[in-house]
Amino acid sequence: MDGLARVKADLAFTVRRLYERGLVSGVGGNASVLIPGRRQVLITPTGYFKGGVAAGDIVKVSLEGEVLGEGRPSSELPTHLAAYRARRDVRAVVHAHPPAAVGLITAGVDIPSMTPEHAVMVKRLEVVGFAAPGEEGARAVGGPLRRCDVVGIRNHGFFSLGADLHDAASRLEVLEESAKIYIAGRGFGAVSGLAGSDLASVRAVYGRE
Ligand SMILES: [Zn+2]
Repeated sequence: MDGLARVKADLAFTVRRLYERGLVSGVGGNASVLIPGRRQVLITPTGYFKGGVAAGDIVKVSLEGEVLGEGRPSSELPTHLAAYRARRDVRAVVHAHPPAAVGLITAGVDIPSMTPEHAVMVKRLEVVGFAAPGEEGARAVGGPLRRCDVVGIRNHGFFSLGADLHDAASRLEVLEESAKIYIAGRGFGAVSGLAGSDLASVRAVYGRE
């Protein structure tokens, strides 16, 4: 398998995994990867059942949004492209609808850092009001994406940026995990996230601060 074929397979695997873990439903969610040195992006197709996306379904586009070859890209393509154009450190973008996390931000509740992984992987998160997928969504989250690796959209979902697909997808998994832990604990009394001093010590252990 050559490099490009492997990336396509990874992309398809990533959205199938999002579906299997309940972070998207049906045709929701999408993911993309920047092709190094080519100003081109591989992205999942629009409208596909995400539990069944295969490597052959992946669509190639230019950084300007022109489709190169077969297929129709995700309707969220404008936001993916905005992230790559704004941040040179971003090599992958994942969009999903993790339900516990979306529920909390839609209710106006900040998601506390409940785990060490959250403290390390999601240091800054901003939330914007609902915006329709596509150009409107790209305008709404374009600013926050310059400052944050994760941006939430109320009544919709999250965009996560990363150095690779694993990085971007993992941020959404740890976010959903924190949301579930917080919600699970709240029924039994006061629950809080890691204190500021704990966040600092965890980040020091993992060497990212
Ligand atoms: Zn969505």
